[in-house]
Amino acid sequence: MTEHLNHFIAGTGVEASDGRRIALVNPVTEQVYGSCARGTAEDVDRAVAAAQRQLEHGAWRQLDGAQRGRLLVKLADLVERDTDVLADLDADAIGRSPLEPRRLDVPNAVANLRAAAGWANQLEGRTIPTGGYFGTKTLSYTVREPVGVVGAIVPWNSPLMITVWKLAALLAAGCTVVIKPSEETPQSALHLAALAQEAGFPDGVINVVTGYGAEVGRALCEHPHVAKISFTGSPEAGREIQRTAGVLFKHVALELGGKSPQIVFDDAPFDDALRGCALGLFANQGQVCAAGSRILVQRGIAERFAAALAEAARAVKVGDPREPGVQMGPVAKKAQFDRVNRYIQLGIDQGATLLAGGVSTPERGWFVRPTIFANANNEMAIARDEIFGPVGTVITFDSEEEAVALANDSTYGLAATVWTTDLARAHRVAAAVKVGAVGVNCWSPLDANLPWGGVKTSGIGREGGFGGAMAYTEEKVITVLLPT
Ligand code: NAD
Repeated sequence: MTEHLNHFIAGTGVEASDGRRIALVNPVTEQVYGSCARGTAEDVDRAVAAAQRQLEHGAWRQLDGAQRGRLLVKLADLVERDTDVLADLDADAIGRSPLEPRRLDVPNAVANLRAAAGWANQLEGRTIPTGGYFGTKTLSYTVREPVGVVGAIVPWNSPLMITVWKLAALLAAGCTVVIKPSEETPQSALHLAALAQEAGFPDGVINVVTGYGAEVGRALCEHPHVAKISFTGSPEAGREIQRTAGVLFKHVALELGGKSPQIVFDDAPFDDALRGCALGLFANQGQVCAAGSRILVQRGIAERFAAALAEAARAVKVGDPREPGVQMGPVAKKAQFDRVNRYIQLGIDQGATLLAGGVSTPERGWFVRPTIFANANNEMAIARDEIFGPVGTVITFDSEEEAVALANDSTYGLAATVWTTDLARAHRVAAAVKVGAVGVNCWSPLDANLPWGGVKTSGIGREGGFGGAMAYTEEKVITVLLPT
């Protein structure tokens, strides 16, 4: 099927201002299957103007929280109705099995929209006691106002879910948006925008401009009428966005990468920990920000655990995710294929023991074998850098203190998992690890009511939960003189 995708601006599909396009490539067959508009600064300007009009003078501005909530509920219902369509769009674009988005990404998106529908009517201000004004009493209260037009910049690994994390919260807060999906995966954002139109959102509230980060993304960061950039992606791009948008005093929220530790103590429920570690390594071909790619295992069970993990890696059936029984597709793009293989070679060169998988030779499709290294140390590149592929690095530790030190010896701080049956230890370690989210005996639980985000190189700010919606508001204080 040939897809010809355009921007969605003010409720209408439009070509790029200069007519240029980006080819879309299937990672299983390496065939071009369509194209999307290659957005320009002029396109961004048009989309921001549409969003700005709705924010300042449009029907959207007239809606109260309860009315915005009703629209969000309708959108949630339509997303749920189109679960299979949306799951297929995201899966096919990156060569992932549609079962994962069907079970996780789309239901999570629906839950986020429904949760945000409730928050839309709860973004309350405060009344604040003060000392008065030159001897006269005053009443001071605050209101929560939408921060403004938001630029939402999204990666390719879970496009729908990450788009909705931003969209649900910012709509609850009364903002309008220009979404810039990844140049590899624009499909589900465009479908979502069409569903929002069907739900009754006024045209111009939600706009999508497709294209490259250096062009569309940058133009959003530089645009004088974009008040906030909400970015999910790599630390490299995050740094540049902070430089561009930060100096213009825009709000910037950054959800970046990770090198998340899974800490397996020798009293852990062995089989559960094994399943959890395998899931954390191989879900979405390891292309997950919270991938538990540093497996820290206590010495007593380290050898047995690493061998079992290697066995689990060898058992994963890799191939065309549309074929029955296949559990893992290719990585999403050629650059990713080269990157993952480069790190596997580095692991071998730096002296880690390769227990399963290894460097893959390019065939048709960017398939990488699930790979497990043992006898690694925390200084190796495979332990320090985010690989974003199905590669696990097993590192042995002796004491709880050492496990925590290893877990924290990382530039990243997104998530961590603790596997143990010792309740006191679970709480001690959860308190000691410097990350945004900890799973105890479960890898990376996601829920619409929970905040998500990292510390250090993993980012700034939180998405999700009530706080996620509040992050799209400004607090304004109003003081009224009360002469007696
Ligand atoms: P990326 O940084 O290359 O691109 C992400 C998005 O930013 C894309 O839409 C891209 O076009 C755009 N972009 C790139 N450079 C830009 C620039 N200079 N200015 C503005 N926009 C720019 O990341 P990716 O390869 O698409 O995604 C993988 C990364 O995303 C990994 O590091 C992963 O850990 C991270 N990620 C984080 C989370 C999280 O919640 N913390 C979730 C998913 C992915």
